[in-house]
Amino acid sequence: MNQLSPKPLRALITGGAGFIGSHLAEYLVAQGQTVHAVDDLSTGSIENLDSLRGNPNFSHTIADVREEQTLAELVDRADIIYHLAAAVGVRLIVESPVRTIETNVGCTEVVLKMANKKRKKVIVASTSEVYGKNELVPFREDHDLVLGPTVKARWAYACSKAIDEFLALAYWRARRLPVVVTRLFNTVGPRQTGRYGMVLPTFVRQALMGQPITVFGDGKQSRCFSAVDEVVEALAALAEAPQAVGQVVNVGSDQEITIGELAELVKEMADSDSPITYVPYEQAYAEGFEDMARRMPDVSKLKSLVGFAPRKDIRGIVSAVIEHYRER
Ligand code: UDP
Repeated sequence: MNQLSPKPLRALITGGAGFIGSHLAEYLVAQGQTVHAVDDLSTGSIENLDSLRGNPNFSHTIADVREEQTLAELVDRADIIYHLAAAVGVRLIVESPVRTIETNVGCTEVVLKMANKKRKKVIVASTSEVYGKNELVPFREDHDLVLGPTVKARWAYACSKAIDEFLALAYWRARRLPVVVTRLFNTVGPRQTGRYGMVLPTFVRQALMGQPITVFGDGKQSRCFSAVDEVVEALAALAEAPQAVGQVVNVGSDQEITIGELAELVKEMADSDSPITYVPYEQAYAEGFEDMARRMPDVSKLKSLVGFAPRKDIRGIVSAVIEHYRER
């Protein structure tokens, strides 16, 4: 290769068959990079990678990221690692607490250890869940994390991801391993499954099947939903921004909607006769379940680092998800 056609960047995506991982793989391949995905298919699905099947710039391995030998080889062949493998979804977290903690902490430990051996940059996917019950909206990266008690299983997710963040930042501070910690806010789009509790695919499926649309609590809690295609673009841009190294960065949209409004919107856009029903949290999850009233990112850091933040409006996002489910 001469200087005019530099070797394409080789990306390794852990959790590459997951919802966000598969969109990231498609995006990076479209940008001319070569991508290898590693996934144990515990919550991801090989069908998510259908569009990349046979593409010479894409390959995958089905394995648990904690298989050190396998991971070491994959890290060796990559220039950069996007670490997305994790246990996600409030339902999964509440129902499988051991798996959540072990997966989230164990995978990150191995990824950082291997990346450090080979001196490869790591983009770590963390979550807005780490802000917990903080009421100081919008959430800025240097705000306090306000978590509930350890007897409430939900907080294990935030805590396990916070440990991932601490570990990544420790590798940067103590070993100069280049890392970027990204806190993803509610990311939605085609291929996201409602199986692990995520609200938008759940509402869309309910609306299309004529089943009750289940709003948990009073529906006044709000979220900011961002489109997965814009989120993966932001991740790729952060990977290329030298100033992002060693930083924690919110990735999301700051357009807020209540869950009650979201239910109405899905019902209207899907042209559905489904009733909207309100389900108490205790019934939806478990006794004493805690939800957060608002969750909105301050995206000024993301904008200053890469020049943009996800901005697609919620109607367009909902429409893409409805179309995806209709096709299926
Ligand atoms: N939610 C809901 N009905 C559902 C699933 C979720 O009302 O069938 C609510 C949930 O209680 C939360 C919001 O929708 O207030 C977003 O939930 P999700 O699990 O998608 O993400 P979270 O922001 O809680 O991580």
